[in-house]
Amino acid sequence: MRIVAVSTSSLWVAFFLFLLTPPTVAAQSGEARGDGPTAIHAGMLFDGTDGEMARDVTILIRDGRIEAVGTDVEVPGDAERIDLSEWTVLPGLIDMHTHITGDPADLGADRGAFLFRYPEQPTLVGVRNAQVTLMAGFTTVRDLGAPGTTALALRDGIASGLVHGPRMVTAISMGTTGSHCDRTTGIRPGTADVDERRPYVFDGPQEAEATVRRAVRDGADMIKVCATAGVLSLTEDIGPAQMTSEELEAVVSSAAMLNRRVAAHAHGLEGIQNAVRAGITSIDHGSVLDDEVMREMTERGTWLVPTMMAYEAVVEMAEEGFLPPGPAQKALEIRPYVVESHRRAFAAGVPVAFGTDAGVFEHGRNAEEFQLMVDAGLSPREALLAATRNAAEALGMSEELGTVEAGRWADLVAVRGNPLDDVSVLEDVGFVMKEGVVYKRDGRPAR
Ligand SMILES: [Zn+2]
Repeated sequence: MRIVAVSTSSLWVAFFLFLLTPPTVAAQSGEARGDGPTAIHAGMLFDGTDGEMARDVTILIRDGRIEAVGTDVEVPGDAERIDLSEWTVLPGLIDMHTHITGDPADLGADRGAFLFRYPEQPTLVGVRNAQVTLMAGFTTVRDLGAPGTTALALRDGIASGLVHGPRMVTAISMGTTGSHCDRTTGIRPGTADVDERRPYVFDGPQEAEATVRRAVRDGADMIKVCATAGVLSLTEDIGPAQMTSEELEAVVSSAAMLNRRVAAHAHGLEGIQNAVRAGITSIDHGSVLDDEVMREMTERGTWLVPTMMAYEAVVEMAEEGFLPPGPAQKALEIRPYVVESHRRAFAAGVPVAFGTDAGVFEHGRNAEEFQLMVDAGLSPREALLAATRNAAEALGMSEELGTVEAGRWADLVAVRGNPLDDVSVLEDVGFVMKEGVVYKRDGRPAR
């Protein structure tokens, strides 16, 4: 009798767990993906596969995915036709470094404002930012750190069609005690426990492994670590490493075991070296790079996510007197190294994926990064590939995103003019489709 009771209850547990199975990153079930087929006629198409531009191409879309692409695609009679013959069509853009629930207003000298807010507030801010980001042509973002579970909630809200926004690949960020990822650094003891991010602070490889497992349990699509200090935290020096090699290796190996990738926030050289050698997927920021580490990144296929917009933003805020004194000084100190490091990395052929750190500046300005990349030596073609094919590869989602090919999600944007002649045309995206649903048309929201 007892055995029967136990097995019945475990069946119920299994049933509820089945109900609780979370949506996958790419799934979007709540919003119709367009009932019938759709045919887009593109005047020009940058499909993201090889960096070439094609003319007069038809893209046939069904059930949210691309069914066929070419100059002689047969269009079914019942297909909805979208005429983009005066436009250049590209894969939906991907930003590999956002804080979509973040508001740049919070980076100023008054860091106490969060004490007066409910913990759900960043999700609401994120709803607005997600819409703005999607309208700017970014159909996928890798979100690298938010208070508590706010970004995870937003990710699921977008995936289920509750709110409009880019597909979110969402990290939980973690680091050692007193590091950039320990958000209590610089706040007096006793106040610290109000901070939601405290659970993901660790010391030593064993705790690092446990923290990765806990983050995955809590819903992380991936892991972000702070391998060095940050510009915007109050008191730490910008240069030194903040994790040992052993801790980084523990994070990377335990994440890999659970099929998760790891991004490293890293400014100083030692922290970058440790992270690259531990097998990290991407170095984000990458302020101080030497020839040796650039060679290692190229050999291993470690992605550099330059976030050049972030440096512009913090320097501007420092010069305007908006930042607290510590961060302001760090912003001005780091700047000369960054420009030089990125220029040399681009010239050396280090793999580059597009990322901005949106949230440090106003969301929706993400595409301004393209011009900064070109100013530092990338060709427009390379900059575009960084935000499409390369970014999808760095996410491990090449079969789903990043190119306009049969089988991929119908994530498409369109601009006037030719971005291979002038990348700044990407700052004015006039058409946005995500998974076959049109969100923007003729420069205006379609929904
Ligand atoms: Zn960031």
